[in-house]
Amino acid sequence: MVGGGQLARMTHEAGIPLGIKFKLLSDTPQDSAAQVVSEVVVGDYRDLDTLRAFARGCDVITFDHEHVPTEHLRALEADGIPVRPGPDALVHAQDKGVMRAKLTEIGAPCPRHRIVEDPADVAAFAEETGGFPVVLKTVRGGYDGKGVWVVRSEADAAEPFRAGVAVLAEEKVDFVRELAANIVRSPHGQAVAYPVVESIQVDGVCDTVIAPAPELGERLAGEAQQLALRIASELGVVGHLAVELFETRDGRVLVNELAMRPHNSGHWTQDGAITSQFANHVRAVLDLPLGDPRPRATWTVMSNVLGGDFPDMYQAYLHCMARDPQLKIHMYGKDVKPGRKVGHVNTYGDDLADVRERARHAADYLRGTITE
Ligand code: ADP
Repeated sequence: MVGGGQLARMTHEAGIPLGIKFKLLSDTPQDSAAQVVSEVVVGDYRDLDTLRAFARGCDVITFDHEHVPTEHLRALEADGIPVRPGPDALVHAQDKGVMRAKLTEIGAPCPRHRIVEDPADVAAFAEETGGFPVVLKTVRGGYDGKGVWVVRSEADAAEPFRAGVAVLAEEKVDFVRELAANIVRSPHGQAVAYPVVESIQVDGVCDTVIAPAPELGERLAGEAQQLALRIASELGVVGHLAVELFETRDGRVLVNELAMRPHNSGHWTQDGAITSQFANHVRAVLDLPLGDPRPRATWTVMSNVLGGDFPDMYQAYLHCMARDPQLKIHMYGKDVKPGRKVGHVNTYGDDLADVRERARHAADYLRGTITE
């Protein structure tokens, strides 16, 4: 796996029961996954020679992020190494301009959008789509809300162009909430769909995920799952695909973006589904039959633990484990920096209000924002 973050750490964990020899290309020896994988190569994934040397002897390559240059992936494939997902699929998760063009071509519902050249062009786009505000996105390199701007005037629109990367303009969708339709697809074309979840963002960062999305009608849930399955098959995705969606006031879904790897909106599956997203990603990448994606409980809630200034994790564990013996804690071994995702908790049960409260309490306590 290329990339040493928490997604690699948890994918490695899911491969252990299958006896898979897991090799990691990591930026530093301290990265979340590099701390736990036995075979780690420290190197730069942007360097083709490093990638080639890493890939030698691997049966298959997969990723915990989308940043490996597309041409390097093609070079690995030309060397005879299976790359999953492959470059032709992955480019749609790397470049928001390419993604929007392809989704429009296959008739997947998207916010109105186009590539814009400069602030005057943003004003023209606003004019075409009913006025400001407009959402601007750099087509490559954004994550967790970085690389996304909501602009209210032409004068506001200068900043995104400074990076020298192409800029995509989108109408600002007046959505009711954000959903994610997560599926896993194997090279054989077998696919499984997880229940559609609600994802609650705070300051542009995922805070809580509720599985399944409360009060989502069967029709819309089915449509969202079908949409994700269709995108995966049209784009030739192998592995886990997260389709981030906006639910609109008139009962439709629009695609926000795609992620082709395990995803934060699927962390609940570790404890809440029969087969986790990580286990199914591993199976898909190895072209094994996929596992059952159905939920184990009526409700599962995942809340992220963000870095705060809590100094004593042992004390926090004493409190959280004593308060809630069903609580599942997943910490990533990362240095605690304010606002950084350092772990998550999963809770499950039949009473949604109770399940949410337990996840909220544990995440806040582990962060140190509450002390009792
Ligand atoms: P990132 O790559 O950083 O995850 P996203 O494209 O997912 O960026 O955008 C981050 C957040 O910005 C979204 O979760 C959503 O809350 C908001 N957002 C993005 N695009 C739109 C849009 N067209 N209309 C309204 N809100 C948007």
